[in-house]
Amino acid sequence: MKAPPFAYAAPSTIAEALALLAAHEDAKVLAGGQSLMPALNLRLAAPSVLVDINGIAELSEVSLTPTELRLGALVRHKRIGTDAAIAGAVPLLGLACPHIAHGPIRSRGTIGGSLSHADPAAEWPAVCLAADAVMEIRGPAGPRHVPAEAFSLGVFTTALRPGELLAAIRFPVARGRAGFAEVARRHGDFAMVGAAVTVELGPDGRCADARVVLFGASDRPIRRRAAEERLRGQAPGAALLREAASLAAEGLDPPSDLHASAEYRRRVAPVMVRRALADALSLPEARLAA
Ligand SMILES: Cc1cc2nc3c(=O)[nH]c(=O)nc-3n(C[C@H](O)[C@H](O)[C@H](O)COP(=O)(O)OP(=O)(O)OC[C@H]3O[C@@H](n4cnc5c(N)ncnc54)[C@H](O)[C@@H]3O)c2cc1C
Repeated sequence: MKAPPFAYAAPSTIAEALALLAAHEDAKVLAGGQSLMPALNLRLAAPSVLVDINGIAELSEVSLTPTELRLGALVRHKRIGTDAAIAGAVPLLGLACPHIAHGPIRSRGTIGGSLSHADPAAEWPAVCLAADAVMEIRGPAGPRHVPAEAFSLGVFTTALRPGELLAAIRFPVARGRAGFAEVARRHGDFAMVGAAVTVELGPDGRCADARVVLFGASDRPIRRRAAEERLRGQAPGAALLREAASLAAEGLDPPSDLHASAEYRRRVAPVMVRRALADALSLPEARLAA
């Protein structure tokens, strides 16, 4: 199938893009096109205007200070996965990137596009939640900042309001360790279930802080606070990781679909959490534990 007819505009500033979005209620932002173009070709979307933001140079900027990494919304998956400074500042970004689709898609797809698209099985929304990122949004009412937890609201649904643009994502520079694990039918497919974790160890070697996030297990990435609580103040070991992983899976109500049943997702979720934690804490024996 071919996309329905649409007009095309290529602004070179954020202000021009916002004016176009304000003037055309059903306009759609075009970033990497890796989710939008298939949706147009399948006629799941029929915007009157495509606002191509690829010519807005500031949206591709990356900046790093000792405390913060800021990625423009147009930064491509590939750059995130290959830039040592980015992975050094927020290791979860480097760990998750190879799991996203395939090379050609990573060359075009953008972090802002993935976050705005809000597929519950996508890696970036989960990484942003685990890494405590904040979304920098520009819109007709001015700029605003939304924490990752309040940004993904459900399947293909975000806190973006009509006429708004996701401009950048701000990450605190990581102070601890990170781990990532997912299961997909084939490499490059969307995950059936995955886990993204961060762990900070205190000077005594105990977990000072942890964030445990599951994705593909609900309508959006979700923090598993009971697991985080279990880890806090404890010395890492295989038994602790097993307990935390099983707490992470408690009360899960995952979807059933073509890719996996709810029951499968429920069973595999704690395994993903345990593997991600074991990798973060360099405990290979805990990764294998039954
Ligand atoms: C075969 C295939 C496999 C894939 N596998 C995976 C995978 O395993 N994991 C994964 O995470 N993704 C996967 N993807 C999706 C891919 O990561 C896309 O790049 C991503 O979802 C969308 O990014 P994009 O830049 O291409 O956005 P686009 O397709 O251009 O846009 C997506 C949506 O976001 C909106 N949008 C884009 N940018 C902005 C912005 N800055 N502000 C406001 N709205 C915006 C658009 O209007 C549109 O509604 C796959 C895609 C394909 C085709």
